[in-house]
Amino acid sequence: KNCLMWFRTDLRIQDNIALHKASTMIFTKSEKSKYVFAIYLISPEEWRSHDVAPTKVDFLLRNLKELKESLNELNIPLIIESVDNASDVPGVVIDWCKRLRISHLFANIEYEVDEMKRDKQIFNLATFNSIKLEMLHSQCIVNPGLLKTKEEKPYRVYTPFKNSWFRYVESDLSILEPLPDLFPNSKSIRISYLETFSFKVPSSIPGFEISSELAKISRLNFPAGEQYCHSLLSQFILQKASKYSNARDILSQNGTSSLSPYLASGIISARQCVYKAFKANNNKISTGNSGIVKWIEEIIWREFYRQILAAFPHVCKNMPFKKHFKNIEWNNEEENFMRWCQGKTGYPIVDAGMRQLNGMGWMHNRARMIVAMFLVKDLLIDWRKGERYFMNHLIDGDFANNNGGWQWCASTGSDAQPYFRIFNPTTQSSKFDPTGEYIRKWVPELKHLDSKQIHNPFGVLKGSEFKKLGYPEPIVDHQKARIVALEKFKNFCVRL
Ligand code: FAD
Repeated sequence: KNCLMWFRTDLRIQDNIALHKASTMIFTKSEKSKYVFAIYLISPEEWRSHDVAPTKVDFLLRNLKELKESLNELNIPLIIESVDNASDVPGVVIDWCKRLRISHLFANIEYEVDEMKRDKQIFNLATFNSIKLEMLHSQCIVNPGLLKTKEEKPYRVYTPFKNSWFRYVESDLSILEPLPDLFPNSKSIRISYLETFSFKVPSSIPGFEISSELAKISRLNFPAGEQYCHSLLSQFILQKASKYSNARDILSQNGTSSLSPYLASGIISARQCVYKAFKANNNKISTGNSGIVKWIEEIIWREFYRQILAAFPHVCKNMPFKKHFKNIEWNNEEENFMRWCQGKTGYPIVDAGMRQLNGMGWMHNRARMIVAMFLVKDLLIDWRKGERYFMNHLIDGDFANNNGGWQWCASTGSDAQPYFRIFNPTTQSSKFDPTGEYIRKWVPELKHLDSKQIHNPFGVLKGSEFKKLGYPEPIVDHQKARIVALEKFKNFCVRL
């Protein structure tokens, strides 16, 4: 009787529930699992259909190499196979189960609709072949579906969800404790069949190649591996977390954790993050150091969007959370969309954000909110176009967080605020990039402007001076666009 661990968005050894169960499986009191194997499927068609960014694929492959080495130390061989057609994935997993005489297959649950469908197929195939499939919750600290409103319904708004989350965790703080470390499997595996394969991690996948410049930047900013990730977490908690409440919004400051790529690919668990914060906060979770609590609340946003996904699967099907917004008419002017993508809107803060995304595959949270709000409210372009562009470029692309963030900005999502939340990009710029340092870094045409001119060069410079910059004029007048957007959303809501 052997066990197989199927890795997906959980490329870690530590605090991985499915791996832990597979490795410590005992069939009867006297019979331990004979061998533990692991498998990872490279599935480009699935990645393409979910708009996975090439830079995220590169990050996955780099982490897969690290994972393979860590599994080696535990005497667990990692099988890596490329599957051209997404529909073949269930069959390939079951074929491996048969070849390796697997009686128990383990994986952690993925909550997105397509992934759930695929897993249902695997479940049916496994049952047919007398293989026991165990799917476990490992993405959240409080599993989606566990917290309910007084009316026994899923939460639709963040703040009551957060309060309920804190109450639940505080009722039993052991929920926060990560699983104990795994010990190497004492049986070294020498299975001649497996030795005929060479399971190398490819260094790139056709169709997902990245430029050498982006590869360099990505390796510098986001090195691979659990070990690195934990040192990043420790450093953040020790040096930055207590100042997080204010620093998190200043665009030029490196005031956030930068853990998002690691959380999105499961190199670290949310529980490991919060446990470390909880320990640094004298074993408190909702009170104590305000910076630490604020950071924990951001992880709760992640849990909130995952429970939204699980409870309201229509958000996975290109539908707004508030379904009545599905018929809103967008402008969708291609030229404006292209200018937004390229960071050439004439609004320095918007352009800086988009150029950060294009240049490094990551964007500061405040900039994500500003550029998303600008696309939807100033340009009246369908938020789904922006959501897709983000996924195609983000190293931390994560369906639940990205969809939740976009719908929050588009006022179609689970936000308590109605549609009239519209950011003024120039005000946001002077508030969250007061010195202009962030703009200067990403929009070099403006690097000689002072901190007053830089937020609105077209508005404050003389025509001839502005022309010399070689920087575009604003593609839209924010004040006018705001009125148009308010009118459009209002009319649309009244018509319902
Ligand atoms: P920190 O501030 O250190 O936060 C720690 C962790 O908490 C993050 O890594 C993340 O996992 C979680 N978190 C933080 N803010 C949020 C939030 N608003 N919603 C949900 N979880 C949050 N995050 C992604 O991980 N992937 C995405 O694809 C993504 N797309 C977004 C799109 C839009 C339009 C917006 C407004 C936000 C999006 N976010 C996304 C959320 C947020 O911007 C990033 O998680 C954050 O910038 C990552 O930086 P960090 O790790 O330094 O965050």
